[in-house]
Amino acid sequence: MKVVHMENEIKTDDASGRGVVEGYKIAFPAMLFKYNQEEIDVVVDVMRNTNAMTQGKYMRQFEEDFCTYTGAKHSFAVDNATNALRLASILAGLEQGNEVIIPAYTFCATAIPFGETGAKIVWADIDPESRLVSAKTIEEKVTKNTKVFVVVHLLGMPVDMDPVMELAKKYKCLVVEDCAQAPGAEYKSRKVGTIGDFGCFSFHGAKNITTLGEGGMLTVKSYEYAKIVSGLRHNGCRAYNEERKRYWVPAMSDVDIDIDGVWPSNFCIGEAQCALGSKLLKRLDKINAKLIKNATRIRRGLSDVPEITFPEIKKGLKPVYHVLVGKFNGSKLEKTRDDFMDIMVNKFRIRMIAWLRRDDPADPPWAPGFGEANCPNLEAYWDSSFSYPQSSDFTDEDIDYMIDSTKKAIALLKL
Ligand SMILES: *Cc1c(COP(=O)(O)O)cnc(C)c1O
Repeated sequence: MKVVHMENEIKTDDASGRGVVEGYKIAFPAMLFKYNQEEIDVVVDVMRNTNAMTQGKYMRQFEEDFCTYTGAKHSFAVDNATNALRLASILAGLEQGNEVIIPAYTFCATAIPFGETGAKIVWADIDPESRLVSAKTIEEKVTKNTKVFVVVHLLGMPVDMDPVMELAKKYKCLVVEDCAQAPGAEYKSRKVGTIGDFGCFSFHGAKNITTLGEGGMLTVKSYEYAKIVSGLRHNGCRAYNEERKRYWVPAMSDVDIDIDGVWPSNFCIGEAQCALGSKLLKRLDKINAKLIKNATRIRRGLSDVPEITFPEIKKGLKPVYHVLVGKFNGSKLEKTRDDFMDIMVNKFRIRMIAWLRRDDPADPPWAPGFGEANCPNLEAYWDSSFSYPQSSDFTDEDIDYMIDSTKKAIALLKL
């Protein structure tokens, strides 16, 4: 095993690694989700009155509500999206020699569960307009060993799914949608996570809604897969009717569940989180509407600033703007994205972010030896990309301050 020397001391006061948020005029307040009274009350109610703390009526209700909200056929509440992705990777039956195509532009949790199966991760490039993977950038990486395409509706923007599904049919591949940043986003009036074979959602503290910091949901299209998920989620134990003749004999896994050769685990989520999740679903559209309003205001406010461009959103797509990413085009000014960010951060005290950096996506420490990533569009894009802070609690004044500061920063760069 390679021993990695840690140059930075491990900071115990910032276990999430998100850094300080104090001292900013506009911080990135992710993980400071504000619950309303009804949401707080339902958690307390479960603590006081429930007859099960896990896998009870609130989980069933949350799953049912999620199916109703998204239109998914089957939904399974889990402890986080990484494990929803892990369940998808298990269900896909991947093994050594198989290849999985994964966007090079994403959060590492999209890839880790798939790499863990022994399959080879092959990185797909972004389309320069949408700044997401497309059928074209996926097809460039297809080989006879490809079994799964993973698409990520990154930063709340839906991937163009119809061509991806056609491609999957052509090459007989399964499609996994990583919807961690896009709950409620739509593709041609269909919710993301209901188009591919599997959809994976996150309710982590930094996402659009959060079930007390952690949580996730797996949506499944086909009953053939869905029928074994509850067993895979709970160490092979699945609810079934059993006559208890004299005393209870807890099962060493459900004896007739068909998961030969597959290792189940525990991916369960508690009842209080599920009860809260059902409440949050009722508010999700309102939260998303605010995020969309914020992003649209910035896009409009900067439409006459040629140095800043935003991703193209094609007709029929409804993004939910988990965050708004922009591209800084400073070549005429002979200035870089970092020059722009320096002013925004240090002079205007806006906590700007450059998302999802990886020196070489083909060679993260947990996935060695996969060869060159070969993603020229992403290479050309990443160093010019940036994002504004985003929150459903921002006021119009906050947004206008960011617009105004951007214009002032560019004027300063022109001096
Ligand atoms: C957050 C995130 C995940 C992982 O979600 P968890 O619930 O934290 O496990 C996966 N993919 C993407 C794109 C994410 O942003």
